[in-house]
Amino acid sequence: MDVLAKCPKCDAGLPVHAADAPAAIKCGRCGREIPLHISQAVRDDRAVDRCPVCEGGEFYIRKDFDPKLGLTVVIIDALISGAFYWYGRDLIAYSILASAALIDLVVYGRLKDITVCYRCHSEFRGSYNRTASAFDLHTADVLEVEYERRIGRR
Ligand SMILES: [Zn+2]
Ligand SMILES: [Zn+2]
Repeated sequence: MDVLAKCPKCDAGLPVHAADAPAAIKCGRCGREIPLHISQAVRDDRAVDRCPVCEGGEFYIRKDFDPKLGLTVVIIDALISGAFYWYGRDLIAYSILASAALIDLVVYGRLKDITVCYRCHSEFRGSYNRTASAFDLHTADVLEVEYERRIGRR
């Protein structure tokens, strides 16, 4: 399992390989030492049961969406339909836009789910079983505040 540990101080994402992770890592941006508590299930890529960074047990699932890729797709769609629209071929523009939207949908559907920690936003990628549920704003509000109080950011 690959873990993207989030630095509690500066929010930098620090990639860690769970199978051979050290007991602590040092943030490359701010220099903070971050102790890692990797559970056996995380180490074996079986499940995400406990967050190595904040030791929280609440997670949510989201698509592993690369914002840069998404933006590129949107721009290409706009360029293609814009070019056709400019030449007065509205119908073709609309059908191209529709097929582009369909392609986006397929791309989105093929994205993998990743697990994210509610408290510290560390991300977990691997072949483990996804057991977390979808993002819940209320849970996030409660747990983020709790965590930020604990690490002294509020
Ligand atoms: Zn940092
Ligand atoms: Zn966490």
